[in-house]
Amino acid sequence: MIPRSFEYHAPASLPEALALLNRHGDTAKLLAGGHSLLPMMKLRFAVPDHLIDLRKLAELKGIREAGDEIRIGAMTTENELIWSTLLQEKCPLLVEGARLIFDPQVRYRGTIGDDISHADPGNDHPALMIALDALFVLAGAQGERVVPADGFFLGTYMTLMEPGEIMTEIRMPTPAPGTGYCYAKFKRKTGDFATAACAVTLTMRAGAVSDVRIVLTNVAQAALRASDAEAALRGAPLDERHVDEAARLAMGICEPVEDLRGDVEYKIAMVGNLCRCTGYQNIVKAVQYAARKLRGETVETSHPLLAEIAAH
Ligand SMILES: Cc1cc2nc3c(=O)[nH]c(=O)nc-3n(C[C@H](O)[C@H](O)[C@H](O)COP(=O)(O)OP(=O)(O)OC[C@H]3O[C@@H](n4cnc5c(N)ncnc54)[C@H](O)[C@@H]3O)c2cc1C
Repeated sequence: MIPRSFEYHAPASLPEALALLNRHGDTAKLLAGGHSLLPMMKLRFAVPDHLIDLRKLAELKGIREAGDEIRIGAMTTENELIWSTLLQEKCPLLVEGARLIFDPQVRYRGTIGDDISHADPGNDHPALMIALDALFVLAGAQGERVVPADGFFLGTYMTLMEPGEIMTEIRMPTPAPGTGYCYAKFKRKTGDFATAACAVTLTMRAGAVSDVRIVLTNVAQAALRASDAEAALRGAPLDERHVDEAARLAMGICEPVEDLRGDVEYKIAMVGNLCRCTGYQNIVKAVQYAARKLRGETVETSHPLLAEIAAH
């Protein structure tokens, strides 16, 4: 419960934060929402000498559209994602995903950039980011670099980010109108990390899947893209046979760890169920929703799938 003592810094600008990080190296930790770091410090799993609080950095906040991209500041909170009318309208998968992360209090503090940087395989944003084909902007002493989400997550708490770098922004192509989406998360209770979860984005053309991304949460050391499952669906009709095959292929790549959420066999079986569920029923509903929108009909924007599912 009691963290070890540390020195607190609250830089007012990104260059100042980078300089502090550079100066204190391994002995410093960035503090964002604090809902992963502080619990670890209270258990003394993390014992930094310096905390560099990013909350004064206004340039790391906000959600906007720039050309055909959506850009989200790393310090944008989960609740700000949920409340964003831009995301509700143009990228509802992110809204749906954020609503499934822990509880309202944590969502007031927890931020998207840190959920990504922390790289806990149980965190939900890594899979959502890969499904949405996102890019991450990383600032360091040498300047800025932009890296794709796909390939960024190397293992538990491990990413491509170098010491001394700060994630400043998340960029993603604005999903084309008519893109189907779903994040199916199986958890023991509200506020728990996923036993298994599956993010899907999908587009259809002439009755066949024209593009699809399937990414799994918490069934490996890091978010796991199910590329073979995607290949099985690409160009195929979205019927039970193809979806079952995609689910089988997704199950084949899972390497979950046994814990209180279940043993390895159980977790792999849940991936199959989630893929069938995301890959079939919910996506069909998402495509129907998108078709209604394309026809110009007024539909509830924020959670059409959940409303439809709840009605059954
Ligand atoms: C009980 C509980 C349940 C949870 N359930 C879920 C869940 O179901 N799904 C989910 O996705 N998350 C869940 N979380 C995690 C939560 O969303 C965290 O808030 C999030 O993982 C980390 O974000 P944070 O802003 O709190 O980061 P912090 O705790 O402040 O930081 C986390 C780590 O990221 C580093 N970091 C922070 N900012 C940056 C940056 N800009 N650039 C580089 N590195 C940075 C920090 O140094 C630290 O190592 C849960 C947390 C708790 C306590």
